[in-house]
Amino acid sequence: MHAAFLAALERIVRRDAILRDETELLAYESDGLARLRERPGLVVLPNSAEEVQGVVRACHEHGVAFVARGHGTGLSGGALPVPGAVLIVLTRLNRILDVDIPNQRITVEPGVVNLEVSRSVGPHGFYYAPDPSSQQVCSIGGNVAENSGGAHCLKYGFTVHHVLGVDAVLPDGELVHIGGDLVDTPGPDLLGLLVGSEGTLAVVTRIVVRILRRPETVQTLLAAFDTIDAGGAVVSDLIAEGIVPAAVEMMDALAIRAAEAAVHPNFPPADTVLIVELDGPASEVTSLFDVVVATCRRHGATAIEVATSDEQRARIWRGRKAAFAAMGRVSPNYYVQDGVVPRTRLPEVLSRIRDLERRSGLRIGNVFHAGDGNLHPLICYDERVPGEADKAVEVAAEILSYCIEAGGSLTGEHGIGADKSQYMPTMFAAEDLALMQRVRAAFDPRGLCNPGKVFPTPRLCGEVPGPYRQHPIEAAGLADRM
Ligand SMILES: Cc1cc2nc3c(=O)[nH]c(=O)nc-3n(C[C@H](O)[C@H](O)[C@H](O)COP(=O)(O)OP(=O)(O)OC[C@H]3O[C@@H](n4cnc5c(N)ncnc54)[C@H](O)[C@@H]3O)c2cc1C
Repeated sequence: MHAAFLAALERIVRRDAILRDETELLAYESDGLARLRERPGLVVLPNSAEEVQGVVRACHEHGVAFVARGHGTGLSGGALPVPGAVLIVLTRLNRILDVDIPNQRITVEPGVVNLEVSRSVGPHGFYYAPDPSSQQVCSIGGNVAENSGGAHCLKYGFTVHHVLGVDAVLPDGELVHIGGDLVDTPGPDLLGLLVGSEGTLAVVTRIVVRILRRPETVQTLLAAFDTIDAGGAVVSDLIAEGIVPAAVEMMDALAIRAAEAAVHPNFPPADTVLIVELDGPASEVTSLFDVVVATCRRHGATAIEVATSDEQRARIWRGRKAAFAAMGRVSPNYYVQDGVVPRTRLPEVLSRIRDLERRSGLRIGNVFHAGDGNLHPLICYDERVPGEADKAVEVAAEILSYCIEAGGSLTGEHGIGADKSQYMPTMFAAEDLALMQRVRAAFDPRGLCNPGKVFPTPRLCGEVPGPYRQHPIEAAGLADRM
C-alpha cells in the first residue's frame, strides 16, 4: 500500500480502524471456506456509512481494489481477500436504526447479525423469516450479498423476497438509495440485481427488510427412515398433496452421527432423518400435520418424534442447524458444497453421490433442504494426507456436474464466490456470461469491487468479449465431466 493512499485512509477512519499487523491480518485470511486463503493487503473497519463511502472513494481515487466482508461465514470464498486489496470489514456497522412495527419493517446496518433482527422484533410478535443455519453469527449485509436462504425459505422465500431497500456505496464512492420502504418501486429492479451480487457491485451500508407476524401455531416432527428414497418419497407426496411445509430438511447417516457427537439432539440411529415443520393457523396446521404423520408411516418411517414443547422443537433444530460445523467431530477437514437439482431428481443424484463416495474413498455426508432440492454434500478429507484436499475438490466438481446434468444449479444459497467461478461456463452460455459482465462493468468499470469473484474471467468496461481463459480445472480435464 503506498503512502498517499494510507494517508488518505487515516483522514477517513481512526488509526485503530486500520489493521496492518501481520498477526492481525491472519484472522481475515479466509471466510468459512478455509481451504482458500490469502493475506489481505490491509483491513479497514469503518464505523459508519460515511466512513465506508470515504474508504471506497479513496480506493477509487488511488486505483486500489477492495473486498467487502461481513462476519466471514460465507462458504464460497466471496470475502476471500484479493492480493493487494483492501478488506472493508463491516462488523462495526451493527446498529438497528429503526423498528417500524405498524408497517412491518426494520432498518438495520449491514453488520447486524441475522438472529438479532428477530430478537429485536420478537417482543412485538414478529420475526425475520430468512434463517440460514449460521443465523447466530452471519450478518444481514452478507445475507443480502449472497441472497441467503435457510430451512424456512421453502415457504417464505429467500433474502431477496424480504429486502425492501438498501443504501449502497458504488465503486466510485457514490452513495445511492435503491428500493425503499415500500413493497415495490418504479423503474428497473436494481434491488433484485444487487441482492445476490456477492459484493461485486457495491458495498451495502443500510438495509430495510420486512418482518412477519409469528405464526399462531408451529408443529414439528422428526421421522427416521431406512433409505433416503423413502424420505424423498414423503417430500414428493406432501408437495403433490398441495401441502407447503414451512421447512422440510433431510440428513443422512454420517450427518446424523456428526450432529449427535457435537450437540446431542438425540436423533434415532437411521439411514435418513426427515424434519418437517408446518406453521399457520392452528386448525389448518393440526389437520395437515395428521397428513404428514400418515405419509411418513405409509413410507415406512421407523420412528416418528412429534415435538410437544418449544424445547423439544429447539433440540430437533439444533441437530440440523449444527450439522455443518459438527462434521469436524467425524473428520479432520470437510468441504461443504451447495448445488441444486429439481426435487424429483433428488434420489437419482443422491445415488450417484453415494456411488462417487465408494469410488473416491472419501466419506460424504449429506444435509439438504429437501423441499428446494438444495443439496449440501459434506466431503470429508484429511489435509495431512497428500493429495486428499485436491481429491475433495475433484469430488465436489463431480457432484456439481451431476447437478448441472440433472437440470439444476451450481448454487442454491452459498453463492459462487472464488470457489466456483470456474464452473460458471458449465451452466451459462458465453453470451449470457458476457451480458452479466457488462452489467457488472456498468457498476464497476475499473474492476475494483471484489475482483476475481463469481466470473471466470475479469472484464472491464468496454472490453471486447473474448474466449474464456483456461482454468486449472479445465487443464486437469475435470471440465469434460461438467
Ligand atoms: C455453519 C454454517 C452454516 C451456514 N448455513 C447457511 C444456510 O443455511 N443458508 C445460507 O444461505 N448460507 C449459509 N451459510 C453461509 C453464510 O453464513 C451466508 O452466506 C451468509 O450470508 C454470509 O454472511 P457473512 O456476514 O458471514 O458474509 P461474509 O462471508 O463476510 O461475506 C459474504 C459475501 O458477501 C459480501 N458482503 C458482505 N457484506 C457486504 C456488504 N455490506 N455489502 C456488499 N457485499 C457484502 C462479501 O464480499 C462476500 O462476497 C452457512 C455458513 C456456515 C459457516
